[in-house]
Amino acid sequence: MEIKPFEKKIWLSSPTMHGNELKWVQDAFEKNWITTAGDNVNAIESEISAMLSQKYAVGLSCGTAALHLALKAAGEKIYGMPKPGTHVLSGHRVATSDMTFAATCEPIFYEGGEAVFIDSERDTWNMSPESLENAFALYPDIRIVVLAHLYGTPAKINEIKAICDKHGAILIEDAAESLGATYRNADGEWVQTGSSSYSCISFNGNKIITGSSGGMFLTDSKEIADKVRKWSTQSREAAPWYEHEELGFNYRISNIIAGIVRGQLENGLSEHIEAKRRIYERYKAGFKGLPVTMNPYDEENSVPNFWLSCMLIDENAMCRQLRSGREALYIHEKGKTCPTEILETLAKYNAEGRPIWKPMHMQPFYSSFPFITAQGNGRARSNAYIADNGCVDVGADIFNRGLCLPSDNKMTEEEQDIIIQIIRSCFE
Ligand SMILES: *Cc1c(COP(=O)(O)O)cnc(C)c1O
Repeated sequence: MEIKPFEKKIWLSSPTMHGNELKWVQDAFEKNWITTAGDNVNAIESEISAMLSQKYAVGLSCGTAALHLALKAAGEKIYGMPKPGTHVLSGHRVATSDMTFAATCEPIFYEGGEAVFIDSERDTWNMSPESLENAFALYPDIRIVVLAHLYGTPAKINEIKAICDKHGAILIEDAAESLGATYRNADGEWVQTGSSSYSCISFNGNKIITGSSGGMFLTDSKEIADKVRKWSTQSREAAPWYEHEELGFNYRISNIIAGIVRGQLENGLSEHIEAKRRIYERYKAGFKGLPVTMNPYDEENSVPNFWLSCMLIDENAMCRQLRSGREALYIHEKGKTCPTEILETLAKYNAEGRPIWKPMHMQPFYSSFPFITAQGNGRARSNAYIADNGCVDVGADIFNRGLCLPSDNKMTEEEQDIIIQIIRSCFE
């Protein structure tokens, strides 16, 4: 059968609107709360905190702002309040997920800290507990760990929490991609990602619930919530005039944007997760017989939100692929393919895939910071992904062989079947 390009582009993950979003935007207009406060902001703060079993939620301009203030709060808890002109993390190391969106680690640098990039593990593609242990052995001064739940799959958070506790470190959860994903905690109870004391979520345009932008910080501590809220409103003290005892930020969420989120939450999240799950399952079934696997998760102890479906090509089915800083080349071989070939082929048919997040330790900007693998220092290696010293760079390997598939909620089953056919054809 000849496949024709899609007339309407198949997106990686586009917003899915239900109609009620406009109702709450309208509500903001009617009440004339066209500002960074109002009923919509209050409503989403209480709805999301209830959903994540958190006592406090602070709506913010984006997930990156939430991560920034989470890091500042954790930093002050450990290192104290910085003097004007200095940063709370100056000279301090912070361990962070390595294969993730840059926003996970950027705030470390906003606050003058130094990142220690922790390699990923095969089981969930998230931070490897073994690698984190190694990082504490090499850098015992680490007191903060930033953990992302990639593509909506919960990380091995119980193990990571235990390691953090052992070393007196604070864990910050970057749940920007994983809203609604759950896992079984150390007590055997099912809990949401983003339910620990320093948690961040995002309402960016392609996330599972969106306000076009926006984010939220969540915590069980009134003291921390009050601080984050104050910092986010230019650090105004409770005085009759603008009184400032600390550095401030303009990080609050708009009541208009909160209105969109409020409408999304009315029935959106469970419906979106269900659609995403079906997409994942359909790919999994559709790829039967191909030398590929889907992005994995712990089926007994976690339920992802399946935000993005991803695939990994078996090592022996990879054709030659070369990636420089800006370009990619490949040589097609019969029975083999590579992410570049699949992404280019999908684009030819008007469908959007995406490479896996390029690990931070491979980014030119972060090349001088440590990278720790399950075998130890991952910087002491040659270009081969299994280095002379035995270090296996799992993140580089997944980046090389993996890709994100079109995972749009509004893609029909027929369209997805065609996507599967297109991908199959890359192996011919
Ligand atoms: C989207 C995202 C963020 C940041 O969210 P914004 O709202 O875009 O600032 C942080 N971390 C991860 C892993 C993300 O995917």
